[in-house]
Amino acid sequence: PAMLGILGGGQLGRMFATAAKTMGYRVTVLDPDPQSPAADFADVHIAKPYTDPQALAQLAQTCAAVTTEFENVNADSMRWLAQQGLTVSPSGDAVAIAQDRIAEKTFIRNAGLDTAPFLAVHNSGDLAGDLTPYLPGILKTARMGYDGKGQVRVNTAEEARLALSNMKHQACVLEKMLPLVAEVSAIVTRTRAGEAVCFPVAENQHVNGILDISIVPARIGDALLERARSMALQLVEKLDYVGVLAVEFFVLEGDKLVINEMAPRPHNSGHYTLDATLTSQFEQQVRAMCGLYPGKADLLRPAVMVNLLGDSWGENNAEPQWEVLMTAPNAKLHLYGKKEARIGRKMGHFNVMADNADAALEQALAIKDTL
Ligand code: ATP
Ligand code: MG
Ligand code: MG
Repeated sequence: PAMLGILGGGQLGRMFATAAKTMGYRVTVLDPDPQSPAADFADVHIAKPYTDPQALAQLAQTCAAVTTEFENVNADSMRWLAQQGLTVSPSGDAVAIAQDRIAEKTFIRNAGLDTAPFLAVHNSGDLAGDLTPYLPGILKTARMGYDGKGQVRVNTAEEARLALSNMKHQACVLEKMLPLVAEVSAIVTRTRAGEAVCFPVAENQHVNGILDISIVPARIGDALLERARSMALQLVEKLDYVGVLAVEFFVLEGDKLVINEMAPRPHNSGHYTLDATLTSQFEQQVRAMCGLYPGKADLLRPAVMVNLLGDSWGENNAEPQWEVLMTAPNAKLHLYGKKEARIGRKMGHFNVMADNADAALEQALAIKDTL
């Protein structure tokens, strides 16, 4: 069987490896942490940095195709692998756009799609002018931010300038704070041949900047659902993207939809596809990198996904009581095998399927309360 390589061995890499092995492939994981969540599932685990020349050479020699589960992987490493004749999806160029908020939001705008009003901040000079179109706003580091980290809310120009200097003058975007009616995401799979399918749109609720719950289908009306799918499909076309791309949207008053950001990989808000669609987002990642046709992505049943954070674990990494989840007839638990629970750390999730999204949500919240 062919060997598939993945850069990154977090929970997304682990679920990718499971899907790949279910389809008969072998898997090599590159992750600096020898105990990465994907390590148990990998045929070969290379515990080296993503830029390590020997590790990259090993991938180039042994793998048929390579993908990533981590947007902050070095884009040049991906470009180098592609230069060795390896199939690399998504491309290093697409990853480079997704990992830099300035490049990302500029690309989205140039594709004719809406974003929140934003100002690219390369240095303090960029904050010297009139900032009122972006205030009150959020100053976000251009690179490396996730789960709301690297973001500061600012009400005045003075606060924005102070925040930039506290961030040691890293490149940032200053983005206008928008009144959100809802947040949704659409996850698209696109193959080399250009076939593209979109998973059902998820409605996402965050707590402390971290995804808490995804409700599918999102309860925003058919017209907006269709528009989100169509915007996500337009974006993969413009990027000439191969692989799985997650697109996060803000829903605004007056049925307006703007793109917040994208992730060049499967996404936490797509974990419901492990149980509620015939093809999971991880199987789609495998199919896309192997040049196979994308799988069926329609919803089998409305679903709610609940993230399980380390906050619900007790002393000495004691797991919550799973009793209620195990006896619920329509719930499914997924754990990532992480040895150490920490506040805010994603340890697993569970999915609840029901006849409609509201019923699934009610049951999911009832289960969550018992953990
Ligand atoms: P992720 O973990 O999804 O990668 P991130 O750290 O890249 O998150 P964003 O998605 O940009 O950060 O922002 C995190 C959350 O902060 C959003 O989901 C949203 O709830 C809120 N937020 C971000 N930007 C805005 C905005 N312009 N207006 C209103 N709320 C916002
Ligand atoms: Mg992000
Ligand atoms: Mg986000």
